[in-house]
Amino acid sequence: MVSSGKLHPVVLIPGDGIGPEVTHAVIRILEAAAAPLRWQEARAGIAALEAGGEVLPEETLEAVRRTGVALKGPCTTPVGKGFSSVNVQMRKKLNLYASVRPVRSIGGVPTRFENVDLVIIRENTEGLYSGAENRVTDDVVISLKVATESACNRIAHWAFRYATQRSRHKVTVFHKANIMKLSDGIFMDAAERVHARDYPNIEYEQRIIDAGCMRLVQDPTQFDVLLLENLYGDVLSDLAAGLVGGLGVVPGANYGEDCALFEAVHGSAPDIAGQDVANPLALLMSAVMMLNHLAQEREDECASVCSERIKNAYNRALHDGQKTRDLGGELGIEAFADAVIERLA
Ligand code: ATP
Repeated sequence: MVSSGKLHPVVLIPGDGIGPEVTHAVIRILEAAAAPLRWQEARAGIAALEAGGEVLPEETLEAVRRTGVALKGPCTTPVGKGFSSVNVQMRKKLNLYASVRPVRSIGGVPTRFENVDLVIIRENTEGLYSGAENRVTDDVVISLKVATESACNRIAHWAFRYATQRSRHKVTVFHKANIMKLSDGIFMDAAERVHARDYPNIEYEQRIIDAGCMRLVQDPTQFDVLLLENLYGDVLSDLAAGLVGGLGVVPGANYGEDCALFEAVHGSAPDIAGQDVANPLALLMSAVMMLNHLAQEREDECASVCSERIKNAYNRALHDGQKTRDLGGELGIEAFADAVIERLA
């Protein structure tokens, strides 16, 4: 247990593209808020390659295993043969099997719906992200969708436990088991079984993903926690982000048994990198999730107070119209960070 006054060592991976810019702004805000953190910078992605190492250096993974917590900017995977996604590799190697993405309407960010409050829980280790692709003939390639009963059970337990702890009322599985009878079937069966056996307190439903998406964009308030296999979770995260203002405002966390890694849903957005227009809020919100995680896991009241201060400050900034361009404002990255820092009470 870390008591107030102690600093939690956290691995910081700035990443590529807009990663270093938004990370810099977020660190400034965390420091201004006196967050009880001590950074250990590590590399991954293009930044690691350019420093003369592997795209995902072993020492980066070791550092995360050692500290148990990391804040990560988006990493770019070099184009070409021989490189599998850095972000996917990291989740697999650290066994960060549960991805959690809260998608909420934010005051000061007007969108089509006002009361969106969803949590997307994505299985992070298998499905079509198995990386098992083969060329069978010149004309045919195959891609394997992997589902194991153990991983399906594990994520189902995680989702229902999360829903219970956070006082959420319903878990919905999106699936395509009418077509992928075995792989999506096993995912759905696991959720159904775990619900029936251990979580009668939570409402449970299943939706075929195409119809589910239609319902989601018609009225997102009919859903609460969405439980999805890997690829569906990826797609639905961006779709849901579109309901609340876009990728600039959706944070994320990846949890395993031994460590947790916090990162925004967005990628490295090379199209806007270096132009001082990216929104650092998604990474800042991920950092707030990290502080809450430390507060809970290590019973650190100071982390909890700090997370509240930052949340209140960015909410006030948005309410006052202090916004980056993606949200209809005019502020650059550091100017937005200044606006948040000025409002830290
Ligand atoms: P990946 O494949 O790594 O997930 P992607 O192709 O989905 O990446 P992103 O990098 O997530 O693409 O970004 C998609 C678009 O959304 C970008 O081109 C950019 O215009 C916008 N975008 C993403 N993140 C932000 C941000 N933080 N602030 C402003 N705009 C953003």
